[in-house]
Amino acid sequence: MEDSTPAIIFEGIEKSFGSLKVLQGISGEIHRGEVVAIIGSSGCGKSTLLRCFNRLETINDGRLVVNGIDLSRPKLNQKQLRRLRAQVGMVFQQFNLFPHLSVLENLMLAPRLVLGKSGSQIEEQARFYLEKVGLVEKAKAYPEQLSGGQKQRVAIARSLCMNPQIMLFDEPTSALDPELVGEVLVVMQQLAEEGMTMVVVTHEMQFARDVAHRVFFMDRGCVAEQGSARAVLTQPKSDRLRTFLSRMN
Ligand code: ADP
Ligand code: MG
Repeated sequence: MEDSTPAIIFEGIEKSFGSLKVLQGISGEIHRGEVVAIIGSSGCGKSTLLRCFNRLETINDGRLVVNGIDLSRPKLNQKQLRRLRAQVGMVFQQFNLFPHLSVLENLMLAPRLVLGKSGSQIEEQARFYLEKVGLVEKAKAYPEQLSGGQKQRVAIARSLCMNPQIMLFDEPTSALDPELVGEVLVVMQQLAEEGMTMVVVTHEMQFARDVAHRVFFMDRGCVAEQGSARAVLTQPKSDRLRTFLSRMN
């Protein structure tokens, strides 16, 4: 049965670090199969919002429901937290691969430890996802032998090995040399075309325009403008978005 409830619902979320209020009652929703790009100036709270979605940060106020799991409560039991972490994958700017493990071992670690799956089953799956990101020939390589673009593709494959229903990307191409950005975006675009629910914090305006169904412009801890990529990127309503976009080009 198709589930029509949004993948992520957030209403009036507030988050402070000490006296610094980073999320100021931010609201929105992400639908299943939707790709949402989040844009906005450095420091406006993009990473913090994304980190709330998989409980790397806890919210101070408001309502947050991710894949049916209510994260508004201050305490979650271990079972719910494990379920959330398995269902929501996250890819960071820094790839965070384990340097002492081969590519294949990096991919197999979490399914074995967290999902308790067995050897042949997870290796088959790991190879399947390596194939998907075009790196099956690197199965035995170690992270230091890979380019930045290849490392990020491995990090994406590693997330996919948990069979997530939602993928969060926090500036996945910002640490890469310009010539390596494209190969990562291609993998993300393919994932989007397969119907993955994706929330992507990015400065790649072309990716936002071509791949995202909707774009959120964040400003000072709120979603200041949202709409189709076309509307947000080509018909900004506010001066702040207009200024932001002009700096991007
Ligand atoms: P963005 O990703 O949009 O650049 P962030 O969400 O990383 O913004 O940060 C928003 C604000 O919150 C910044 O001023 C940042 O310094 C602050 N901040 C983020 N994480 C923490 C933390 N763990 N402790 C204190 N301040 C933080
Ligand atoms: Mg950030």
